[in-house]
Amino acid sequence: MALNCYFCEMKAWSEILNQNNFTDGDIAALLQLQGAEHDLLLKKARLVTSENIGNHIHFRGLVEFSNICSKDCLYCGIRKSNQKVIRYNATDKEILDACHFAWENKFGSVVLQSGEIETNAFVKRVDDLLRKIKQLSNNELGITLSCGEQTRETYQRWFESGAHRYLLRIESSNRKLYYIIHPNNKKHSFEKRIEALHFLRETGYQLGTGVMIGLPFQTIDDLANDLLFFKQLDIDMCGMGPYIEHENTPLFKFRDLLMPLQTRFELALRMIAVLRLMMPDINIAASTALQTIDTDGRIKALNAGANIVMPNITPVDYRASYLLYNGKPCTDENAEITSNTLSEKIKDAGFEIGFNAWGDSKHFIRV
Ligand code: SAH
Repeated sequence: MALNCYFCEMKAWSEILNQNNFTDGDIAALLQLQGAEHDLLLKKARLVTSENIGNHIHFRGLVEFSNICSKDCLYCGIRKSNQKVIRYNATDKEILDACHFAWENKFGSVVLQSGEIETNAFVKRVDDLLRKIKQLSNNELGITLSCGEQTRETYQRWFESGAHRYLLRIESSNRKLYYIIHPNNKKHSFEKRIEALHFLRETGYQLGTGVMIGLPFQTIDDLANDLLFFKQLDIDMCGMGPYIEHENTPLFKFRDLLMPLQTRFELALRMIAVLRLMMPDINIAASTALQTIDTDGRIKALNAGANIVMPNITPVDYRASYLLYNGKPCTDENAEITSNTLSEKIKDAGFEIGFNAWGDSKHFIRV
């Protein structure tokens, strides 16, 4: 009898692997696979990636241009109330030099990321930067923005000035959990964040979102529902990674409830793999947080269905101040890129790099 039951279970998960449509129960089962079954899930996801979007990995040079933030997210190291952070705002020249570096090195795209500020001065500054980045690269660099919740008008203005992809993580699609990890007030409204995602979609951006994996009080069912939320929202891009506690944040007090880092890491890889099965033609980023836990984290993510790598090209002096979580790497990736180490690793893993291309989401193009 025991053997039969085991057989039933085996059959169930391997059958699930070949489906196109997944229930919350199917997803929860896949998210819990271990050992050889975990390995097979990842392998299948890489196969689905190459069948649907090919073997090319795309780079986005990530410029974390300011850590000044008006929000107080309970998990985030650069939250407004963390007085231990040295606040910075990179100069236009530093930002444009970083973008020029990306262009020269044939990245094809950059991501401008910052804390969340809604002042007119900030909105205008990003607008000016977008135009200058387009100018310096003969309109060749693609630009993704990740500057948080803004008004519909701001999204529109930035879109017209050249940004065409936007990343705004929902962080958790479970409203209850959202308010465990954010203050419950107007400035941190779950509904407003969802609304912002819709504004972005309506404006014409390729829409990216994501969640943190391994948050305190988060369950496997929450994560399964996050994936269904992405599917329902019909996103074009996803960036998600393990939650990593930061000592100067309120959420740190729950650190004893967390899974070990390695377990969070492996769960994050399965999240990527399952999302790839559910949405075969979207862009999925191999996030920096994965790299924080495992030095080969990004390559492992590529082997689990991710297809985007975001090398950090923030001016090195600022990196130690954009510490979203403990242990975030501050290494000089510019050196790594110019010496081709990262490219070599990616090629050794059997991929090609899509140089000088925007690497847009095939999902967006097909719609
Ligand atoms: N202000 C922008 C960018 C925020 S930082 C915005 O709101 O979209 C980018 C991402 O870092 C966040 O969306 C969050 O998912 C992630 N992050 C922040 N703190 C983290 C932590 N402690 N562990 C893991 N990821 C974290």
